[in-house]
Amino acid sequence: MKGRKLLMIPGPIEFEPDVLAAMSVPTDSHISPDFIERYGHSLDLLKQVFLAPGGQPFVVAGSGTLAMDMSVVNLVEAGDKALVVSSGYFGDRFQDLLSRYGVQVEVVTAPVGDFPALEQVEAALKQGGFKLMTVTHVDTSTGVRADIEPLAKLAQEHGTLIVVDGVAATAGEKMFQEEWGVDVYLTASQKAIAVPPGLALLVASPRAMQVFHARKTPVSNYYADFTNWLPVMQAYQARKPSYFGTPPVNSILALEVSLEQIVAEGMPARFARHARMGAAFRAAMSALELNLVPVRADIAADTLTAVYFPEGVDASLLAEINKRGVILAGGLHAEIKTKYFRVGHMGSINQSDLLGTIGAIEAGLKAVGYRFETGAGLSAAQNVLLAE
Ligand code: PMP
Repeated sequence: MKGRKLLMIPGPIEFEPDVLAAMSVPTDSHISPDFIERYGHSLDLLKQVFLAPGGQPFVVAGSGTLAMDMSVVNLVEAGDKALVVSSGYFGDRFQDLLSRYGVQVEVVTAPVGDFPALEQVEAALKQGGFKLMTVTHVDTSTGVRADIEPLAKLAQEHGTLIVVDGVAATAGEKMFQEEWGVDVYLTASQKAIAVPPGLALLVASPRAMQVFHARKTPVSNYYADFTNWLPVMQAYQARKPSYFGTPPVNSILALEVSLEQIVAEGMPARFARHARMGAAFRAAMSALELNLVPVRADIAADTLTAVYFPEGVDASLLAEINKRGVILAGGLHAEIKTKYFRVGHMGSINQSDLLGTIGAIEAGLKAVGYRFETGAGLSAAQNVLLAE
């Protein structure tokens, strides 16, 4: 790795040189004609990446948690009911968040590694009165992926808005926001959008914007309030200057570069590449006889994989892998925190990054005394990658 380690955690990820170069140019005025064009263009590109041509994009300085906050606080009022469909740590975060705003929250959940059945969600929605429901597209604590299309359909049938947290999924996992009827899709810059941490991104549907405009009470969070940001987004979209809070100029220049790269790859091709990377990585883990946290293949994410340590192995494995040049992440879900590790394989990573990571995992496993056939993981992954 030429002295530089490969960052294979579930975000931040490895960034493209052109994206990083945009972060380092002299900072322009946030109302210069050139910056206005780039901010406006980034907002246009975001709708293409989310496949939501009729949506309202928002790009503001903040992390993914701000995007979660903005996505719900503008739609709920104290006393409203919300349904949280949770498959882990980040699903549960919506419960905390919504409760803070005086919303009555009901949670539908499943054992660790599983996703709540559609029937469970339907039964909850049938009680009626839910203003919105939240779903985590990929919960980064478990690597479990939600099947968004039928959930969005259910939400529509019950007159409930659906907010989807795509922080660990957007621009990697399949999402057709407008076609599927997702009201808010949100993400952060540092994952498959492939821009250093610092941007909260979301696109709201016309239905969500109507609900926002029909509010009876002020939004309970000043920084996250669409009332402040909508005129700014609309101005930049119309290539006019505007101000509420100083935009992170260089991050937005980097965003434009990355979104251009994503659109150039094409969304179907990008989803397919992530599916291939995910399948190859899972095949490697299976060949090494390591168990995954997701309990079924159809709910295993393609952007990241959560893997149980084998019997007798602990987090010292990650230090061994790190010595071999690859940085992986430990556990996050409270119930299994010390029992597993997580590997990100999203953004612009290529086959060599994936094979290098599997090679380092094999070397680390040997170092901690785990017995397996050397090269079994590499061979299984290579077979998936070469099958195309
Ligand atoms: N949702 C998901 C699914 C995430 O993975 C994360 C971050 N790992 C967040 C929300 C929160 O994002 P941030 O850390 O950027 O605030």
